[in-house]
Amino acid sequence: MSECGSGGVSDIECRQIAELLGDYLAGTLPRRLHDLIDFHVDGCPPCVAFLNTYRGTIDAARALRGHQVQIPPELKKRLLAVVRSERAPSDQPRA
Ligand SMILES: [Zn+2]
Repeated sequence: MSECGSGGVSDIECRQIAELLGDYLAGTLPRRLHDLIDFHVDGCPPCVAFLNTYRGTIDAARALRGHQVQIPPELKKRLLAVVRSERAPSDQPRA
Protein backbone atom coordinates (compact mmCIF):
# COMPACT_ATOMS: atom_id res chain seq x y z
CA MET A 1 0.00 0.00 0.00
CA SER A 2 1.30 3.41 -0.85
CA GLU A 3 0.85 6.37 1.38
CA CYS A 4 -1.63 8.83 0.07
CA GLY A 5 -1.97 11.39 2.81
CA SER A 6 -1.13 14.16 0.41
CA GLY A 7 -2.72 17.02 2.23
CA GLY A 8 -5.79 16.19 4.25
CA VAL A 9 -8.10 14.25 2.00
CA SER A 10 -10.15 13.87 5.15
CA ASP A 11 -9.79 13.27 8.89
CA ILE A 12 -9.30 9.60 8.32
CA GLU A 13 -6.12 7.90 7.17
CA CYS A 14 -5.63 5.19 4.60
CA ARG A 15 -4.43 2.86 7.32
CA GLN A 16 -7.70 3.33 9.15
CA ILE A 17 -9.65 2.76 5.97
CA ALA A 18 -7.93 -0.57 5.60
CA GLU A 19 -8.79 -1.49 9.17
CA LEU A 20 -12.42 -0.46 8.89
CA LEU A 21 -13.07 -1.76 5.42
CA GLY A 22 -14.54 -5.04 6.59
CA ASP A 23 -17.15 -3.28 8.70
CA TYR A 24 -17.62 -0.65 6.03
CA LEU A 25 -18.55 -3.22 3.42
CA ALA A 26 -20.64 -5.14 5.92
CA GLY A 27 -22.57 -1.95 6.60
CA THR A 28 -22.07 -2.19 10.34
CA LEU A 29 -20.17 1.07 10.76
CA PRO A 30 -21.75 4.09 12.39
CA ARG A 31 -23.24 6.36 9.76
CA ARG A 32 -20.71 9.12 10.36
CA LEU A 33 -17.75 6.82 10.03
CA HIS A 34 -19.23 5.28 6.93
CA ASP A 35 -19.62 8.71 5.36
CA LEU A 36 -16.09 9.61 6.37
CA ILE A 37 -14.73 6.59 4.54
CA ASP A 38 -16.96 7.35 1.57
CA PHE A 39 -15.55 10.83 1.47
CA HIS A 40 -11.95 9.70 1.82
CA VAL A 41 -12.19 6.98 -0.80
CA ASP A 42 -13.78 9.49 -3.12
CA GLY A 43 -10.57 11.50 -3.22
CA CYS A 44 -8.03 8.73 -2.78
CA PRO A 45 -7.37 6.46 -5.80
CA PRO A 46 -5.14 4.02 -3.84
CA CYS A 47 -7.98 3.43 -1.41
CA VAL A 48 -10.43 2.93 -4.28
CA ALA A 49 -8.14 0.27 -5.68
CA PHE A 50 -7.81 -1.32 -2.27
CA LEU A 51 -11.56 -1.22 -1.78
CA ASN A 52 -12.16 -2.94 -5.10
CA THR A 53 -9.61 -5.62 -4.33
CA TYR A 54 -11.07 -6.17 -0.90
CA ARG A 55 -14.58 -6.34 -2.26
CA GLY A 56 -13.53 -8.82 -4.91
CA THR A 57 -11.90 -11.00 -2.29
CA ILE A 58 -15.02 -11.00 -0.17
CA ASP A 59 -17.22 -11.86 -3.13
CA ALA A 60 -14.95 -14.73 -4.05
CA ALA A 61 -14.90 -16.00 -0.49
CA ARG A 62 -18.66 -15.73 -0.23
CA ALA A 63 -19.20 -17.50 -3.52
CA LEU A 64 -16.90 -20.25 -2.40
CA ARG A 65 -18.54 -20.64 0.98
CA GLY A 66 -22.01 -20.49 -0.51
CA HIS A 67 -21.04 -23.17 -2.96
CA GLN A 68 -19.96 -25.50 -0.19
CA VAL A 69 -23.08 -24.92 1.85
CA GLN A 70 -25.27 -25.51 -1.14
CA ILE A 71 -24.16 -29.09 -1.64
CA PRO A 72 -27.33 -31.09 -0.94
CA PRO A 73 -26.93 -33.78 1.74
CA GLU A 74 -28.17 -36.34 -0.74
CA LEU A 75 -25.41 -35.48 -3.20
CA LYS A 76 -22.84 -35.47 -0.43
CA LYS A 77 -23.97 -38.93 0.61
CA ARG A 78 -23.68 -40.18 -2.94
CA LEU A 79 -20.23 -38.64 -3.35
CA LEU A 80 -19.11 -40.27 -0.14
CA ALA A 81 -20.50 -43.59 -1.32
CA VAL A 82 -18.55 -43.29 -4.55
CA VAL A 83 -15.37 -42.42 -2.69
CA ARG A 84 -15.89 -45.33 -0.34
CA SER A 85 -16.63 -47.83 -3.08
CA GLU A 86 -13.48 -46.76 -4.89
CA ARG A 87 -11.41 -47.06 -1.77
CA ALA A 88 -12.79 -50.41 -0.68
CA PRO A 89 -14.04 -52.29 -3.69
CA SER A 90 -14.30 -55.44 -1.61
CA ASP A 91 -17.19 -53.86 0.26
CA GLN A 92 -19.21 -53.75 -2.91
CA PRO A 93 -20.91 -56.99 -3.72
CA ARG A 94 -20.01 -57.44 -7.34
CA ALA A 95 -21.83 -60.21 -9.04
ZN1 LIG B 1 -6.53 6.67 1.18
